[in-house]
Amino acid sequence: MKKSKTPTFLLELPLRVDAGRAKRLRAQFEAARCLYNALLGEAMKRLRQMRADPAWQEARAIPHAQKQERKEAFSRLRHAHGFSEYALHEFVKTANCSWIAEHLDSMVAQTLATRAYQAVNRVCRGLAKHVRFKSKGRGLNSVENKWNKSGLRFVLQPPEEGDQGWLIWGKCRLPALIDWDDPVVCHGLRHPIKYARLVRRKASSPKAQGADVQGYRYCVQLLLEGTPHRKPKHTVGKQVTGLDLGPSTIAIVPREGEARLSPLCEELKPDIRAKRRLERKLDRQRRANNPGNYDEKGRVKRRLVWHDSKGYRATRRRLAHKERQLAAHRKSLHGRLAHEIVRIGNDIRIEKISYRAWQKQFGRSVGRSAPGMLIDHLRRTVASTGGTLHEFPTRSTKLSQYCHGCKTYVKKPLSQRWHECACGTGPVQRDLYSAWLAAHLDPTNNIPSIAQDSWEGADLRLRAAVEALAQRANEGQVLPRSVGIPRAGARLPQSLAPNRLELVYRRGRLAALG
Ligand SMILES: [Zn+2]
Repeated sequence: MKKSKTPTFLLELPLRVDAGRAKRLRAQFEAARCLYNALLGEAMKRLRQMRADPAWQEARAIPHAQKQERKEAFSRLRHAHGFSEYALHEFVKTANCSWIAEHLDSMVAQTLATRAYQAVNRVCRGLAKHVRFKSKGRGLNSVENKWNKSGLRFVLQPPEEGDQGWLIWGKCRLPALIDWDDPVVCHGLRHPIKYARLVRRKASSPKAQGADVQGYRYCVQLLLEGTPHRKPKHTVGKQVTGLDLGPSTIAIVPREGEARLSPLCEELKPDIRAKRRLERKLDRQRRANNPGNYDEKGRVKRRLVWHDSKGYRATRRRLAHKERQLAAHRKSLHGRLAHEIVRIGNDIRIEKISYRAWQKQFGRSVGRSAPGMLIDHLRRTVASTGGTLHEFPTRSTKLSQYCHGCKTYVKKPLSQRWHECACGTGPVQRDLYSAWLAAHLDPTNNIPSIAQDSWEGADLRLRAAVEALAQRANEGQVLPRSVGIPRAGARLPQSLAPNRLELVYRRGRLAALG
């Protein structure tokens, strides 16, 4: 598919689906799942054949310096083994001939082929280790079209006929719920539709509002041409802003104006605690249902059959719902923070960080606040206002080691949270200082360019940000230890730290009850 150059934004509308239509939709999604799996299998087969070809090793042996030659060798191989998006589109015409064709039109089949090709191509290019086939339980949860003219499409009535909208797929005609009083919906539907995507999501239970008998809700995502609606409350500032992101904190320092250091996604804490309780309940239930599957120390034995009770399954469902709630809440918090940052300014400087590496090092806090997703969100928000998010390679900037006073780089351990230099700079909180340096980064040579007198005012601003945080710690709020405020992490609740002993104890109590 040729990438379109015009800007695109999304509008999501819920669909009203009755029992009969839901049944048909489930059959269509099942057909899409089968076809997708078949396509993945075929693409993987072609990839294996291509890699087994002796010419593959020859192509790999071509040095990287001979770019053109290397590229041609690989493209010849791809062509010979039919490993391309186009070849898979050809294949889908033959694979789509049986019962699947009754449920899927050719356009949807083609987009599935593209999706399968992209997944396998990631394996081919070494970006992924394997592809994931969609199991029956997990299913395929979205299908999309390429245009809005035939097949899966969204039609909108003209205002004089009633302003209704439908998603049409095969024989299904699904009415969309359109709230014309909502400015976001109103703005979206005034723009031309590129194509539509049908999405189904799990609701909390089959009894939830708008859910079908298997607990799915359906909605349509319209891909529209243009830029998304901006609410009047979301203003855009003019400052150059530096950010420093930690696994659980963010420092926001503009060149002028108020600096800020705050924990990331702290509102999620109660949700995380509730989720943790559900996880522990699930573990207790699993142990009670399968007493023979654990040894005397409470460890799991190998190769076992597990029995799920009704209560266990209910807990598992509640846990899955909690996870979805948490993800949605996190996303909304990210959106709010992105708008708060853009309100200060839409020229943003940040060090480029590998969030992958962080996940390994600080698993839990990164999992909670998802800083990588925050940056993606921020990048989109900034782009929609016409600003830019500059990312600098950490290796060449090394802001956490830099001192602007004597212009030297000194490595400090992660535990040292304050920057203090013999040249008289500091003490200043490390994250805030990095963010302040980032705001002054010169994009051409990666060295902060700082005028003599700007530090005087900045020192006070950064101190004020720390004061504000210390105030909150004094009021009893729990802060991440990484902010470097003494005793800030001392009130961490015990229940957040799981330990094995407790689980064994629980089991002992359950055994005593039984
Ligand atoms: Zn210094």
